[in-house]
Amino acid sequence: MEAKSRRQRSKVLPLLPLRGMLVFPYMVVHLDVGREKSIAAVEAALEREDRLVALVAQRDVKLDQPGHDDLYQVGTIAEVKQMLRLPGGTIRVLVEGFRRARLQRFLPGEAYCLAEVAEVPEPGSRGPQVEALMRTAVQLFESYTRLGKRVPAETLMSIVSVEEPGRLADTLAAHLTLKVEDKQAILEATGVGRRLEAVIELLQRELEILELERKISTRVRKQMERTQREYYLREQLKAIHKELGERDDKGDEAQDYRARIAKSGMTPEAQEKALRELERLEKMPPMSAEGVVTRTYLDWLLALPWAAETVDQLDIDKAEGILHEDHYGLDKVKERILEYLAVRRLVERMKGPILCLVGPPGVGKTSLAKSIARSLDRKFVRISLGGVRDEAEIRGHRRTYVGALPGRIIQGMRQASSRNPVFLMDEIDKMSADFRGDPASALLEVLDPEQNSAFSDHYVEAAFDLSKVLFITTANTLYNIPRPLLDRMETIIIPGYTEEEKLEIGRRHILPKLLTEHGLKPSQLRISAGGIRGIIRAYTRESGVRNLERELAAICRKAAVDVVRGKHSQVRVGAHNLVQYLGAPRYRTGEAEDDNEVGVAMGVAVTEAGGEIMPIEAALMNGKGTLMLTGKLGEVMRESAQAGFSYIRSRQAALGIEAGFHERLDIHVHIPEGAIPKDGPSAGITMATAVVSALTKRPVRRDVAMTGEITLRGQVLPIGGMKEKVLAAHRAGIKTVVLPEANRKDLEEIPMNVRRKLEFVMVGHMDDVLRTALVGGLDAVDPALLPLPVEPQQPRLHVN
Ligand code: ADP
Repeated sequence: MEAKSRRQRSKVLPLLPLRGMLVFPYMVVHLDVGREKSIAAVEAALEREDRLVALVAQRDVKLDQPGHDDLYQVGTIAEVKQMLRLPGGTIRVLVEGFRRARLQRFLPGEAYCLAEVAEVPEPGSRGPQVEALMRTAVQLFESYTRLGKRVPAETLMSIVSVEEPGRLADTLAAHLTLKVEDKQAILEATGVGRRLEAVIELLQRELEILELERKISTRVRKQMERTQREYYLREQLKAIHKELGERDDKGDEAQDYRARIAKSGMTPEAQEKALRELERLEKMPPMSAEGVVTRTYLDWLLALPWAAETVDQLDIDKAEGILHEDHYGLDKVKERILEYLAVRRLVERMKGPILCLVGPPGVGKTSLAKSIARSLDRKFVRISLGGVRDEAEIRGHRRTYVGALPGRIIQGMRQASSRNPVFLMDEIDKMSADFRGDPASALLEVLDPEQNSAFSDHYVEAAFDLSKVLFITTANTLYNIPRPLLDRMETIIIPGYTEEEKLEIGRRHILPKLLTEHGLKPSQLRISAGGIRGIIRAYTRESGVRNLERELAAICRKAAVDVVRGKHSQVRVGAHNLVQYLGAPRYRTGEAEDDNEVGVAMGVAVTEAGGEIMPIEAALMNGKGTLMLTGKLGEVMRESAQAGFSYIRSRQAALGIEAGFHERLDIHVHIPEGAIPKDGPSAGITMATAVVSALTKRPVRRDVAMTGEITLRGQVLPIGGMKEKVLAAHRAGIKTVVLPEANRKDLEEIPMNVRRKLEFVMVGHMDDVLRTALVGGLDAVDPALLPLPVEPQQPRLHVN
């Protein structure tokens, strides 16, 4: 009975697979059919008496010939009402959904496919729960039509009046904008309650989305309205101003800029640029980002000292007085400045010389530049070039960059607010070049008197005249200054100070300055000469006076506390109570008095911080004659070590070194401190001495320091930085200094009081070095083997 009724209800119908849509029962829908097999299926249906066709959706719309598994299992039996042939071979059919049907069997055919489908009975039951679900669904749908999709009133009426719950659910689902899967889920929901619930759920989701959409669009609309309103009001305001015969804000601003540009003394080129930008500004909306950029640019142009200039103080005596007042010693520099002033007085307009002050930190380079400005009565600006590696830092960024600014030169000029300041560029030797361009080449233009009357900054764009600026640069060493820059400058070397000089600088300049800075009266703090000397010896080890100044400042602070507390009305500091103010001494004087050692020789070198003594170590190991060099040595230094080594090999017998040593031993030469890069040829004789000492097992005198370049034949060549080196040796408590004979003339530079305390040995050949430096000299060596010294006359020079 059951089987029979099923068979009754199941039918074999032509199959029309649907893509991207489906048809619910009771719905009347137009379908456009294009696939050949589908057209054939429609035609077959029309030949049937009942004109029925099975409509089943495909899971994948892309498939052209779906099989059983590609179709959903529930579809609709529908009646083909009409068929219309369209141009292009497709047909349009009007179908009316009739019943849900389950796909039982798929029967592929040549012309078209058939489907055995079983009708799904539509339950008619309706309790109060179904009633409630129906009402909810209708209510939600009403909200849905209100918020989103417009549905004609008649359609809404006809939907509301649907009585059967299942049909209601289907009709609602057909009217919603849903994905095929969602619609299919409703088609497959056979229970009426389930179907209604599914529709409600979908309706709610849709409503939520619609609600969100509405919120977003309201917000956007409000925003737009506000902007429009503002624009409208502003326009009105403008109109009102016009009616009243007043100028509006923008006109005011432009007027103001115009007046300032006219007064600024700009070059015609700059003026043209400024006016063009101003015109652009007037056309921009008032608060636009571009307007801000243009205003900043105009402000920059206007802030530059195009014409402003200070009057030079040309009284030489007065200038000399000021220079002496500020600085002790430094006679050469002061002299050079006075010469400049004198020439300046005679020639109205001269090309500014560029001075380069070279010396270790704390010798007063910066303060000297300041003092030059003061003596000339010019403005002073300072920029630091340390670490500058980008050309744009000198020359600025083009305005097209976001946040672009002029380079440091133009910034300095703005700060100076006069076009003839003293312009200090610190640490010119600390610049470096990288992929962003070479700052040195930009500086060349700045410092070249031929070119700098039309310096171009990328930001400013108009040429700026730097020819009246007095440029002063500083550097710690000449080494790293790019050659072309160096050629354009007049270098003035400021070597370090001797102890006496430091004492005088401390007493006469630094201490009085610090007292004023700390609000102390000279009577309230007295530091004796012995005290200052004590600081110099035990608390500092430097070429300049920077640490001396720091230590003196520390004493001033402590004294200030004592005075304020009322502990003392007068603080006296001398050598005896330094510890109380500065703590334990930091340096031992006479470091060089340690034991003599084998394989360690004392060199002296000039570093960025001034002269320094530099022990060089050599050690031997079993090996194959490799010369190992460590301590971050530069190319020149390595080569000079090689030269020394070759010299030793060639003189092996004479020096009393075992034959064939270079085949059995590796030699390691190290120069502490390992992390600091070193270069230059002047450690040649020191390295050779350390190696000879290691090979001959004869210790090197600790109180002897040396410097000199060595050649393959053992000749000693002159070196630079003599004064620095000698002062460093003196500071370190060295007694004897070995120097190249060819440097004899430089001895004059060394202050008498230092000269008196040291023994100088001037040498022409490596053998002389060894004679002095090795304990016991070359005594043990067979004199017949030694060559004649290059300087047969007295090689020793005693200065008394
Ligand atoms: P640098 O620029 O060479 O590193 P600074 O100009 O900063 O050195 O000098 C450090 C301090 O030492 C400053 O307070 C300076 O006034 C002082 N100073 C250096 N040399 C002298 C000198 N010869 N006379 C007076 N003061 C000096």
